[in-house]
Amino acid sequence: MSILHVVSVSGGKDSAATAVLAIEQHGREACRFAFADTGNEHETTIAHVAYMARHLGVEIVTLRASFEREIVAKREYVREHWPAKGVSAADCARAIAALVPTGNPFLDLCLWKGRFPSRRAQFCTEQLKTLPLTEYQLGLIDRGEAEAVWSWQGVRLDESESRRSRLQGTGACVRSFEAVGGGLFNHRPILRWSAADTFEAAACYGLAPNPLYRQGMTRVGCMPCINAAKDEVLEISKRFPGHIDRIAYWETLVAGASRRMEASFFPDPHGDAHLNRRGIRNVVAWSQTKRGGQNLDWIRITEEPRACESAYGLCE
Ligand code: SF4
Repeated sequence: MSILHVVSVSGGKDSAATAVLAIEQHGREACRFAFADTGNEHETTIAHVAYMARHLGVEIVTLRASFEREIVAKREYVREHWPAKGVSAADCARAIAALVPTGNPFLDLCLWKGRFPSRRAQFCTEQLKTLPLTEYQLGLIDRGEAEAVWSWQGVRLDESESRRSRLQGTGACVRSFEAVGGGLFNHRPILRWSAADTFEAAACYGLAPNPLYRQGMTRVGCMPCINAAKDEVLEISKRFPGHIDRIAYWETLVAGASRRMEASFFPDPHGDAHLNRRGIRNVVAWSQTKRGGQNLDWIRITEEPRACESAYGLCE
C-alpha cells in the first residue's frame, strides 16, 4: 500500500520537530508538508515557514480557507430574515454593506459568523486549520497519489496545563495513532516529548527555531491567539503594536456585520457583561494592571522588551 506522510506545519517548535522526524523516518519523497495560514499569523512566522522549506529542502504547501460563499449567503440571509427578527432597515443595510469578503481567512470567518471565536466557541481551529488540512489530505487519496495518508501532528501532552487537563481521560485525543476513516490516519509521534526535546530534534537538522521564541512568545500561532494569556497580550502590545491596531480595526469590521453591532476579539477581562470594557484596547489596558486588574503595573509596562525572553531557555 502506498502511504504519504503529511506533516501539518505551524511554524512552531512542535511541528518543526515533527517534520524532522517524518523526513528522518520516511524520507522526503514519502512526505508532504502543509501550512494552514489563518490570516492572523505574525509575518515572522510566515517567513519562518518559508525558511523551513528552504532549509529542509521540501515544499510546504500553504492552505488558506475561503468563506466567500458563506459571506454571500449570509448577506442574503440578512436581507431576507433580519427584518422579521426586529432588526431595523438601517442596521440591515449596515450589515449587508459590511459583509464583503476580504480574502483574509480569519477576518472573513468572523465576518461570516458575526463574531470572533472564543475559548468556548473555538471555531477558528476547526475552520481555519483542521478542515483545510483534512481536505488537502483526503484530496491526495482522491487523486490517487496515495492509498493512505498519515496525518503527522505535532501535539505534546505537556504543551500546556489546560490542554493536559482537557485531554485527561478523553482517550481519543491522547492516542498517538488512530484511524480517521477513508484511508486517513492520525499520527502524533511527539506526544510525550518535552519542549526541550523538540528544539533538540530541530537543532540536529540545523533548523533554527522561530525567532518569535526569542522575543518572549511562548507560542507562535495566531498573533494574537484568542487563548493568549494576560502577559502574552502585554508582550504583544509592547513588541508588535501593529498587530493590536489590526485587531482593533477588525473589531470595527466584524461589529458592522453583527446583529449587536459590537464585536470583541477577547471577552471582557473583568468577566462581566459591560460592553464598554470589551475590545482589544481595553484588554491591552487590563494587561498592564497587576493581579486584580485595578492598579497599573508600571514596572511591567515601562520595562523595555529584553532581547530574549524565551520561556524555553534558548539563550542559556
Ligand atoms: S492559534 Fe488560537 S486563534 Fe489561531 S486558530 Fe488556533 S485557537 Fe484560533
